[in-house]
Amino acid sequence: MDMKICQSCGMPMQEEQYGSNKDGSRNDTYCCYCYKDGEFAQNCTMEEMADFCAPFEVEGGRSKTIEEAKEGLMAYFPTLLRWKEKQDA
Ligand SMILES: [Zn+2]
Repeated sequence: MDMKICQSCGMPMQEEQYGSNKDGSRNDTYCCYCYKDGEFAQNCTMEEMADFCAPFEVEGGRSKTIEEAKEGLMAYFPTLLRWKEKQDA
């Protein structure tokens, strides 16, 4: 099975967590929390997304503190499609 990573929040997606396009078809680039009906669910900045995701990193044991988690995410997010485009602008 090849695991897709949401290109907005970096979450590994299960089949049922895929986002959806405007026509209701499946969008496997983004997860259902980030992308729904052809639009991003939250119009947030990369930093806001890192703030939002950091507690989950700590919870999942990938980081020890929120600060450490956020730092890691801020380094990781620019490799994802959603933030990559903005970086170039
Ligand atoms: Zn996502």
